[in-house]
Amino acid sequence: MSFLSVLNQYAWEEIHREIQSVYPWAVPRVLRKDPPISLQDLKVLLSPACRPYLPELVYRSQQITRQRFGDTIHLFIPIYLSNECHNICTYCGFSLTNRSIRRITLTPKQIEAEARAVRQMGFEHVLIVTGEAWTVVHPEYLRQALRILKKYFVHVSVEVQPLQEEHYRMLRSEGLHAVVLYQETYSQEVYRQYHLKGRKRNFAFRIETPERAGRAGIRKFGLGILLGLTEEWQTDSWFLALHLDYLRRHFWRMFFSVAFPRLRPAEGFATPAKVVSDLEYVQLLSAFRLFDPDLEIVLSTRERPQFRDFLFTVGVTTISAGSRTEPGAYALHTHALRQFEIADNRSPQEIIRVLQQKNLQPVWKDWEPALV
Ligand code: SF4
Repeated sequence: MSFLSVLNQYAWEEIHREIQSVYPWAVPRVLRKDPPISLQDLKVLLSPACRPYLPELVYRSQQITRQRFGDTIHLFIPIYLSNECHNICTYCGFSLTNRSIRRITLTPKQIEAEARAVRQMGFEHVLIVTGEAWTVVHPEYLRQALRILKKYFVHVSVEVQPLQEEHYRMLRSEGLHAVVLYQETYSQEVYRQYHLKGRKRNFAFRIETPERAGRAGIRKFGLGILLGLTEEWQTDSWFLALHLDYLRRHFWRMFFSVAFPRLRPAEGFATPAKVVSDLEYVQLLSAFRLFDPDLEIVLSTRERPQFRDFLFTVGVTTISAGSRTEPGAYALHTHALRQFEIADNRSPQEIIRVLQQKNLQPVWKDWEPALV
């Protein structure tokens, strides 16, 4: 049974009601449990009833993270190769309807220049990011890009359009490290409201992507939701956990990461249905740590510096630093359209200083290929 069939067995409203009606006395009982906690217990930690227990939840998350990951934080940087996109997503600067901007897709020579510049910054793990322009940024283009970037970096991952199984198999044979693809929201109704046109409108094809990647032998997959698309962030997060739980059981050799980006201003930006507060964000992140102690939790530069510095110690294991979200930003200075505004503009060196002040050790690459 595919995950979509599983998802369709649940009623969004029912899960929402269960989370909202958790009694406060249930929270200490879950906080005392040894992780991993169950999906049922996760509802308790995501609930409004857990809010008074936030200091305790954060403490548990910190403890578990340091036990499992040591005093390390992994660093990576995105390399945007293209801002062309055939989809209309009302929250994104790359959306097809945003006609006032210059679209570019890097040539092999330009990719090489970007790779050299990023390598000089010290990174060994990069994430290729593109819009979803399937006739431009097609699997063969990605293969060429991967071949170039593999000359410079130990780990190359992709955050691109969802691909077919045979394409993942081909990229895996070229040394692809991981695939990142966020479902954005698990509410099919809300998904339709934000994704107006293009292949991304196909909810089913997107949600089944981790399964295609898993069958193709991809060893690591990054899941995520875009906080702010639905008013009910707890319910959306719980469905993300349900997805993670399904994938862990069906693809037990795969590794997983999660990210919870919050909507940021961008050209063509849709107003968030809900602004997830800092406290809610901390609650979410900490609850997921208790749900899966070994889970990689990724934090991007969308968040502002002071808040990022705090989150480094809460449960996050992997961060981007020095990021630019326009293609050709590191070497070519194209000033092309950014996907979204960065909130933390500090250099990788500044981030490293902060980590060291917190007694955290920056790690420039992901786990060794031999270990995964
Ligand atoms: S979110 Fe992705 S698919 Fe949608 S417009 Fe932006 S780049 Fe394109």
